[in-house]
Amino acid sequence: MSGKSVGSGGVLRSGVKFNFIPETLESPYKDVLKGRRWQRPSFVFLSASVLLFVTVFYGQSLTTPLKQFRNASSVVLDSQWKKVLTFFGNDDFYLYVVGVVLVSQIPFWSVGCMFMFVDYYNWPRWTRKYKLQPGTHEPVDLNRLKETIRVVLINQWSVTIPLLLSSYFMKKFTNTMPIIDDLPSLQRFIVDFIIFIIVDEIGLYYVHRLMHHPKLYARVHKKHHEWPAPIAITFLYSTKIENILNSIPAVLGTVMTNPHLFTFWAWYVFVHVRGLIIHSGYHIPGLATLEEHNYHHMMSNACYGRLPFLDWLHGTDKGFHAYLARKELEKQQQQQKSE
Ligand SMILES: [Zn+2]
Ligand SMILES: [Zn+2]
Repeated sequence: MSGKSVGSGGVLRSGVKFNFIPETLESPYKDVLKGRRWQRPSFVFLSASVLLFVTVFYGQSLTTPLKQFRNASSVVLDSQWKKVLTFFGNDDFYLYVVGVVLVSQIPFWSVGCMFMFVDYYNWPRWTRKYKLQPGTHEPVDLNRLKETIRVVLINQWSVTIPLLLSSYFMKKFTNTMPIIDDLPSLQRFIVDFIIFIIVDEIGLYYVHRLMHHPKLYARVHKKHHEWPAPIAITFLYSTKIENILNSIPAVLGTVMTNPHLFTFWAWYVFVHVRGLIIHSGYHIPGLATLEEHNYHHMMSNACYGRLPFLDWLHGTDKGFHAYLARKELEKQQQQQKSE
């Protein structure tokens, strides 16, 4: 957690020269920075509160036609779910183990291959304007890519799947297998999901900071930081021990709530797609909090969370907001020049 302060200058881990913002000095950045740090946490908090409020009161204020629509759609969804259960033979081993493998591997490799295609062929060209670190991996080195795929496959098949098998037998033994029959209500689904996100975020933030401790970093986490400008599949490019440590917060919420199997699957899809997107190296329009983790890979000593709250609370996001302010100011200056 030690390292460069915001006020110093230097070269990024990716080799790109970077002048840090002199936070202690009066500068034009100060105006851009003003009030910025709390904007992201408060925006996410407000959105989550509105979602929770709507969910809790969902159904109580619906008009009769909307209630009929809701009931009809839940009948359709339930019948589709029954078909899925029949496909897996209503067998909890296939549903829990094979089902989770499929809902993790299919989104991971389909979305991951899409990003790899763009990075390797450097095409379509319009994607270039969304690069967070322009000039890096344009195109990505093939040998490096092959090695990354190899490490990811080893992690998936030698760590994730054995962990999944052991959790299956533990759940069987403790009689806590997820419910598989009728789909959960929308309220239950969203409340479970919010709990997963909160538990995962708290766990990930502190586990991640711990992995940056000098006594652990080299052995546990340095491998993941071999990509200062990450590409999507580097989400799982890590040591085996890091892979296990990162899995714990993601699983903890599901242990606490014992959700329906559908919620469990949806969570696994979410975790994998989120991991790919935050490592993709692209700013995807509309997804506001993606740049934090990219900045973490650039600097290695800031922005440890997936959401902005704990970084805001611990002040580990200051350099990031200064960096954003600098980019924004440069953009404004360029616009002024071209006018
Ligand atoms: Zn990362
Ligand atoms: Zn890290």
